[in-house]
Amino acid sequence: TTAPYTTALVVGTGYGSAVTALRLGEAGIRTTMIELGQQWTTAGPDGKVFCSTLNPDRRSMWFHRRTEAPLDTFLWLDVVNRDIGTPYAGVLDRIDYPNMGVYVGRGVGGGSLVNGGMAPTPQRAYFEKVLPQVDAAAMYARYFPLARRMLGVNTIDPRYLEKTPAYQYARVSRKHAHQAGFKTAVVPNVYSFDYLEREERKEVPRSALAGEVIYGNNHGKQSLDKTYLADAIGTGNVTIRTLTRVTTIRRYGKGYLVGLEQIDASGKVLKRSELACRYLFLGAGSVGTTELLLRARETGTLPDLPAAIGTGWGSNGNVMTARANHAWDPTGSLQSTIPTLAIDNWDDPVNPAFAEIAPLPVGLETWASLYLAITVNPERGHFTYNHATDRADLHWSAGQSAPSVRSAQALFDRINRATGTTYRRDLFTGNRAFAADFCYHPLGGCVLGQATDLYGRVIGHPNLYITDGSLIPGSLGVNPFVTITALAERNLSHLLTTDLKNR
Ligand code: FAD
Repeated sequence: TTAPYTTALVVGTGYGSAVTALRLGEAGIRTTMIELGQQWTTAGPDGKVFCSTLNPDRRSMWFHRRTEAPLDTFLWLDVVNRDIGTPYAGVLDRIDYPNMGVYVGRGVGGGSLVNGGMAPTPQRAYFEKVLPQVDAAAMYARYFPLARRMLGVNTIDPRYLEKTPAYQYARVSRKHAHQAGFKTAVVPNVYSFDYLEREERKEVPRSALAGEVIYGNNHGKQSLDKTYLADAIGTGNVTIRTLTRVTTIRRYGKGYLVGLEQIDASGKVLKRSELACRYLFLGAGSVGTTELLLRARETGTLPDLPAAIGTGWGSNGNVMTARANHAWDPTGSLQSTIPTLAIDNWDDPVNPAFAEIAPLPVGLETWASLYLAITVNPERGHFTYNHATDRADLHWSAGQSAPSVRSAQALFDRINRATGTTYRRDLFTGNRAFAADFCYHPLGGCVLGQATDLYGRVIGHPNLYITDGSLIPGSLGVNPFVTITALAERNLSHLLTTDLKNR
């Protein structure tokens, strides 16, 4: 018997996959995308597709019995997280390893469904350091602008930023940063700031102003399902299968055969099947793609995969921290979930940090300033395949997070000294001021130029490609999705004129 066949198979529907599917579809190549999560288009009993952070239900998390928001407690009370009943195919996953929890999105659009939409482009000098073999001139002249345009990146109107109560929290943190002599920067976003202003005027349903973000935004955000993926479907050559996990990969003629497991929203396996393809693109994200290839190498279905698979993983130096403001510096009870300002200490030669001013949208005054800092952390983790669980294990020690904390602490100690404030210790378990044991920006595992050639071709494996954040070696200095998108655009434009020409 022969297995069903598609010319190109794309695993996942996040940034790298969405770019890939659009460009393949435009070139007339029949493409099937396989996505583990749901298509988030059907409203629940409350009339909404997604639930808010303030009132989470089973839609919030991917097969968890309880939410696992990044803040553990508030005023040391266990009031942040909620029981959400029987496990369900929700939109946000947290994959827990011994010293690191990795947050990822699940559904058509991958991380774009749950992320904060922040869309900065890395400083060119740092990009050149991280990916020295990639032609930075072409990236900055062509692929970054293309990615920003395709993703719908926009910037807040400065007049609105200065007057709206929804960004008082950002202005307070900016003032304190300036008092300590730091620069701040406005960060572009894919959430429509025009929509946000109309939310505030109560002309449209609220989303960023209604506590929606990490469990999905019902309005306002240009997630991938509204941009790249809509265009990909529009080519007529791309289809998406949801609630389907790619489990195995083996060679099959000139192409590959993948094993599929279809589930229902309660996690029950409905069907196991196989799908053959000529070209296989892996876009399951840093953890997902790395796990698929490690499994293939270690179970012997693709035994000659490079030793570099599973190495070079980093958290983009993510650290979260919070400061306690004075009574005369309230941060506001209405806070937009969409961050728009950052403290830019990236040029510090010893402790570089880009610290985003994050909201604490709990609907009441907290006098807290929250931050997600991106730092330079030279430590790298690696994955090994665990035969007993059939999963990849991340090796990351608690000590490996220390450089991230040091750089963030240098910045916030200086702000606290300048303003006479202190850290909030009630938000993370163990009275900690800093949390570097989870991340939003997993990067690496199948690094460009090591596990693959300079365009994402897996070494020694014709027609097998990597197209997501696993290509980036652990650090980028800013939030990663614009770069993941631009790099995928660059790689695809090369592959379409080489491997995929004259098929
Ligand atoms: P992903 O977007 O992770 O997509 C991978 C997809 O593959 C997922 O949909 C997954 O379900 C699917 N998949 C995985 N395994 C399989 C399998 N075996 N079979 C089938 N499908 C599979 N970045 C920014 O730039 N700005 C931000 O403001 C920002 N905020 C964030 C906030 C949160 C809460 C989180 C979690 C992330 C945030 N990020 C942000 C990070 C950003 O979302 C990720 O870097 C980005 O989504 C990674 O893109 P990717 O293409 O590598 O894969």
